[in-house]
Amino acid sequence: MNGPQTATTSPRLVDVLVIGGGQAGLAAGYHLRRAGADFVVLDAQERPGGAWRHAWPSLRLFSPAQYSSLPGRMMPAPTTGGYPGAADVVAYLADYEQRYQLPVVRPVQVRAVRRSGECLQVDTDAGVWRARIVISATGTWWRPYVPHYPGLDAFQGQQLHTAHYRGPEALAGRSVLVVGGGNSAAQILAEVSAVASTTWATLRPPRLLPDDVDGRALFEVATRRQRALQAGQTAPGVGDLGDIVAVPAVREARERGVLKAEPMFARLTPTGVAWADGTVLDCDVVIWCTGFRPALTHLAPLRLRGPGGAVAVEGTRAAGEARLYLLGYGDWTGPASATLIGAGRTAKQAVAEVLTQL
Ligand code: FAD
Repeated sequence: MNGPQTATTSPRLVDVLVIGGGQAGLAAGYHLRRAGADFVVLDAQERPGGAWRHAWPSLRLFSPAQYSSLPGRMMPAPTTGGYPGAADVVAYLADYEQRYQLPVVRPVQVRAVRRSGECLQVDTDAGVWRARIVISATGTWWRPYVPHYPGLDAFQGQQLHTAHYRGPEALAGRSVLVVGGGNSAAQILAEVSAVASTTWATLRPPRLLPDDVDGRALFEVATRRQRALQAGQTAPGVGDLGDIVAVPAVREARERGVLKAEPMFARLTPTGVAWADGTVLDCDVVIWCTGFRPALTHLAPLRLRGPGGAVAVEGTRAAGEARLYLLGYGDWTGPASATLIGAGRTAKQAVAEVLTQL
């Protein structure tokens, strides 16, 4: 069921409504389909692929294809070898929803979810739905986060966020400051430093994972930790090992000696940045690789967000609304649930719970 639907006056009724047709929404769809549930997936994008459609073309996953797969169907290894790129993931997700005939309706933007008697009412730009259960799987890409620093508006150069970075070509020959200590920063720094003069600023010294630790090993660590916690024990988590996967491009940049980070600056100036000790740096471009926040504005009418904007959950179910589940946003909705391989596990658990409720 593809293509936009026209607005109708009477709401459509469905048992389960999934908001978001990225990997988390599709993983939920897979399990709902297997269970024979009455459900629909509403997705704001024109085409399949979720956030991966917007990632910079040279982005590489930090895991091999077989460790980047949703339930039921393994992602094919790229014909070019190496780890899959963003376009490989888009192709895989497009094939996945076709193969399992998932009822994704797009483009449909969900504007608000509100309580309405025994159902949740879902207001969209293509009319109103009513659902007994709503699964929100809207990701984070749509809410890029830039920390506030004094002088942010005074800087006269170019500022962009990871979400809007398209590749190093446009930055050739310029002086670029990359901000952030995670995988996006390291991968972007690696390729920009090949064509531009770069400086790297991080809150704390960057922590590269050992070369033999990739997303596959991280998933195993997250799984072991989850099992340990369930048994009332402790075990190291992913964050205890390091932050940055040493994918080939990052290793190559390390060999070139460009992965040296400065501490965070105190403020921006019209021509660059300044540190508290008076050191200044002029630059043409600042790239904020400073992460994302969950895209949850459609849930505002439910008034579930607590201090810091988080929604309290029990497992994947909203603590304050038993008919609402949240999938894929981060570890708070299940260990590794914001990764391709982890989305399936949390979706399976969530759908099992949903089915007992219907
Ligand atoms: P999304 O892919 O964002 O999908 C959400 C969908 O919901 C989108 O189609 C969106 O348009 C739609 N939507 C949003 N709001 C609404 C609304 N109100 N109404 C209707 N539809 C809506 N994971 C890995 O496993 N391996 C990696 O190597 C990896 N690398 C990453 C690199 C970067 C730079 C980033 C940012 C993330 C990476 N991830 C990786 C993490 C994760 O896999 C992705 O963020 C992934 O896109 C999350 O999938 P999702 O389905 O939760 O959200």
